[in-house]
Amino acid sequence: MQVPLLDLRAQYASFKAEVLPVLADICDAQQFILGAKVENFEKELAAYCKCERSIGVTSGSDALLVALMAEKIGAGDEVITTPFTFFATVGAIVRVGAKPVFVDIDPVTFNIDPAAIEAKVTPRTKAIIPVHLFGQAANMDPIMAIAKKHSLIVIEDACQAIGAEYRGKRVGSIGDYGAFSFFPSKNLGCFGDGGAVTCTDNAKADKIKIFRNHGQSKTYFHEYVGGNFRLDALQAAVLSIKLRKLDSWSEARQRNAAEYEQMFAASGLTDGRITLPAKADYPVRHIYNQYCIRVAEGKRDALRDYLHAHEVGCAIYYPLSLHLQPCFADLNGKKGDFPESEKATSEVLALPIYGECTHEQREFVVDTIKAFYQGK
Ligand SMILES: *Cc1c(COP(=O)(O)O)cnc(C)c1O
Repeated sequence: MQVPLLDLRAQYASFKAEVLPVLADICDAQQFILGAKVENFEKELAAYCKCERSIGVTSGSDALLVALMAEKIGAGDEVITTPFTFFATVGAIVRVGAKPVFVDIDPVTFNIDPAAIEAKVTPRTKAIIPVHLFGQAANMDPIMAIAKKHSLIVIEDACQAIGAEYRGKRVGSIGDYGAFSFFPSKNLGCFGDGGAVTCTDNAKADKIKIFRNHGQSKTYFHEYVGGNFRLDALQAAVLSIKLRKLDSWSEARQRNAAEYEQMFAASGLTDGRITLPAKADYPVRHIYNQYCIRVAEGKRDALRDYLHAHEVGCAIYYPLSLHLQPCFADLNGKKGDFPESEKATSEVLALPIYGECTHEQREFVVDTIKAFYQGK
């Protein structure tokens, strides 16, 4: 049996008849840049995230970048974030000329450890970027308290967490900004690249909107040096249709996670050999963009190879802590600086969790892992 890590074809088949005529209409009109489709999606996304506003942009990476640009964060500034995230979180900080300052993760949630943040705040600190990794919210209350105390901007990297909640609040509605990605593998993916910034403050949202389009509030009159970070009408139309189905897809992922939990408990493998993703000890709605187990005893890479050999998709998010990446060598990160992040990079393994993955396929995943430990 083949079990891909992600297969979007069944999901697409479920709304193909609805989406293709809408895309054909946009092609007939030949109106691709911004416009009503983008504005409608922005309103729908803001309502979904329980935020005042949302602004469609070109990608999740650009959502982070444009928020930093609009806040004039740059050379001489420091931004606190986690070393255990996708590259773009830290790439955005470096691209505006600021310095990333890492804080280690909480090993249970894989998210930034709020208790370790304040020791890293200096007079140069301008912002904190917590990441809601794998679809589970970071512990936002203590992060917001530190930000308030030191007048810091908070940009939530919600790229993996659309619809996730922290104490009943949607991610992206808690900090000053939320950054969302519509890369196809995210819970809400478009037909290419796309992203959005959410804001609770109208003045901040207006500024993001200006920055997204070359810093112009009126055509060819430029208040700022922004960029071309525009979401296009085709992607916005796809996203509007898919957004209506997002909760049912995320709920299917939650059901799949619950089933894995039962299957793994019955397998006996949760005796320390593998550790399942755990819910935070604060109230959350986890949307399981990834289902990452930990594999102990240095067996992770061997298990990955074994699963691949048996046609089970799996992947390592992420294999190298960002403080050890060659491109950040000038930050002088050393092995041992962030032990929890480094440990996670050696243990995590993402298993298939997408909604259309069948019961039989999940059974095959667990059985194949059992067979690995039985030395078969
Ligand atoms: C996907 C992702 C991004 C970047 O999003 P793109 O749309 O691919 O640019 C940023 N941060 C995190 C945590 C992500 O998972």
